[in-house]
Amino acid sequence: MSVAENRVDELVTREEIKTLSPGEAKRTTYGIGLIKGLGITLRHMLKPAITIQYPDVVDELPARSRGVIALKQENCTVCMLCARECPDWCIYIEGHKEARESVAGKRAKKFNVLDRFAIDYALCMYCGICVEVCPYDALFWGQEDNYSEHDVVGLTHEMDKLSQWMYNVPPPVELELGAMGPEVKPLPTAAPAKEGS
Ligand code: SF4
Ligand code: SF4
Repeated sequence: MSVAENRVDELVTREEIKTLSPGEAKRTTYGIGLIKGLGITLRHMLKPAITIQYPDVVDELPARSRGVIALKQENCTVCMLCARECPDWCIYIEGHKEARESVAGKRAKKFNVLDRFAIDYALCMYCGICVEVCPYDALFWGQEDNYSEHDVVGLTHEMDKLSQWMYNVPPPVELELGAMGPEVKPLPTAAPAKEGS
């Protein structure tokens, strides 16, 4: 019986009890409560158990589960957006700039190199803001859920661990009916070639 059905039953019983004298109501309530309780116990005793023997048996998690945040290192441009938007300030990023060698007379370009990316899971509240705001698809929800530590300090996981968790990122699920997909911008059309050029 669902919680809602239990509640309706309870209300009906209360209405009935109002029509009884105080002595009768007291006796009736005790009796009904006991029988209902025994009935629920009996019903659940006869149902098969829905628990599983974790960790020997691991249940498949739903597609959008929030286990851990996995990092795809090669996509990260050290833009710091995730660290700035994190409401708990639990993302630690360090990087430095390097210059690419100039090619065919072009000026050397500078780019960011990621030195450190860590998340303190003792502070993280699994809001998912970092995953949402990353403009370069470098953060994903992985389905790992076994990363407990003996010491709270150990819950700050560095980028090697975050990158390993990429193995457990499920493929994106199909959009629900009526949901808007990502905006796809049309490719720019090539400008018409000038006459005589
Ligand atoms: S899930 Fe939320 S709290 Fe956790 S690191 Fe990302 S932004 Fe911060
Ligand atoms: S928002 Fe994405 S690209 Fe920018 S620092 Fe965070 S993970 Fe890297």
